[in-house]
Amino acid sequence: MNKIADNYIQRVKEKYPHQPEFLQTVSEVLTSVEPVLEAHPEYLEAGVVERLVEPERAISFRVPWVDDQGRVQVNTGYRFEFNSALGPYKGGLRFSPTVYPGILKFLGFEQIFKNSLTGLPIGGGKGGADFDPSEKSDGEIMRFCQAFMQALYSHIGPNTDVPAGDLGVGGREIGYLFGMYKKLTRRYEGVLTGKPLTTGGLQGRSEATGYGVAWFLREMLKHNGEDLKGKTVVVSGYGNVTWGTIKKLNELGAKVITISNHAGYVLDESGVSGEKEDYLLQLRASGHRSCRPYAEKYPEARYVEGRKPWEVPAEIYIPCATQNEITLDDARHMVANGCRYLCEGANMPTTNEAIAYLQEHGVIIGPAKAANAGGVACSCIEMGQDSGHTFYKAEDVYRQLEDIMINIHRLAAEASARYGLGYNLVAGANIAGFERVAEAMMAQGIV
Ligand code: GLU
Repeated sequence: MNKIADNYIQRVKEKYPHQPEFLQTVSEVLTSVEPVLEAHPEYLEAGVVERLVEPERAISFRVPWVDDQGRVQVNTGYRFEFNSALGPYKGGLRFSPTVYPGILKFLGFEQIFKNSLTGLPIGGGKGGADFDPSEKSDGEIMRFCQAFMQALYSHIGPNTDVPAGDLGVGGREIGYLFGMYKKLTRRYEGVLTGKPLTTGGLQGRSEATGYGVAWFLREMLKHNGEDLKGKTVVVSGYGNVTWGTIKKLNELGAKVITISNHAGYVLDESGVSGEKEDYLLQLRASGHRSCRPYAEKYPEARYVEGRKPWEVPAEIYIPCATQNEITLDDARHMVANGCRYLCEGANMPTTNEAIAYLQEHGVIIGPAKAANAGGVACSCIEMGQDSGHTFYKAEDVYRQLEDIMINIHRLAAEASARYGLGYNLVAGANIAGFERVAEAMMAQGIV
């Protein structure tokens, strides 16, 4: 029984019944922090939980743009400025037809605790639009980004709110968004992160999330006296996070045998390594919506239509595609196939039922808000680079990132042990992330 948490969860359910993804993360986080709430009645008196589950500000705007046929198109843009107790709102922009407030609120809520775990001065936020970037021309992408920024620019700033990329938003989109921000404000400043290297971007930012995932996983194995050498890994997705994760896992001696898209997966038992790593980047840049061309180019690989990679036997699984890609059924397959570790590269890729099942069967889980925090951590380093009017060297960025990932793992493991939960990184990450934000909120009064 979670008497305190259940009460708050119930209230959020009644208020936002049509935002299931948001409810999912609120339930997951609040259930984990129940022991903290029990130990700190002053948090309850100060309304810390009620304030955390409500964004400080929600901005919604129309984005009108003209397509290549000269037709006017209209999308809806959003920015959820969730919590600024630890620093300026920080979090990505997602462009996808699936975007609606429930998705962005789940991402923004997760971001608060993820950013807190990095130990850096960044609050939590998220934004985006219900715009589908697939099969759009470069000109259409540019015009959409320009229209989006025209509506958003007055709400953001390097010390106020600093967006970055997420699904559908990479260096190209950030470049166009930055160009319009600069034109409208006449300010060349670190208002966005994940910028192109020519435009104040940070060396190492593109691979940061994936490298961080691999380093976090290494720490999980180390805790059990194991290492990655010779381990077989099943990974999903074929975008930026997947690419960075595979690159670092190969360096650490593991073998990755899958990549995937929404409609199927590629099985490459010889390992996704060497020039195949760079091919992933080409595939993505060429605008393909599928990773099938990988199997056409490399005959040792095959494309398995209409199935998920979780049916492939392995000790380690790393979901890097999107939310809720691992269901209870998938979790059953994974356990039956020998799964021992799950490390989340995507945000909330595992349903709460699947997490419970995996944990009951002894699987060690590295939760997304800890394991994929390397991306946003490097975004904060990029903010520092921009405000210092300088450029950092890639090797210095990697060194800082590796330290940050080791520290996040330690914080989560210690918080779990402190509350008598053993080595439970899911609960530990929620608790450690929550404690830092709650303390800052207490220090700042009721605002
Ligand atoms: N979208 C990324 C995330 O989920 C990065 C956010 C950022 O760099 O601000 O953490």
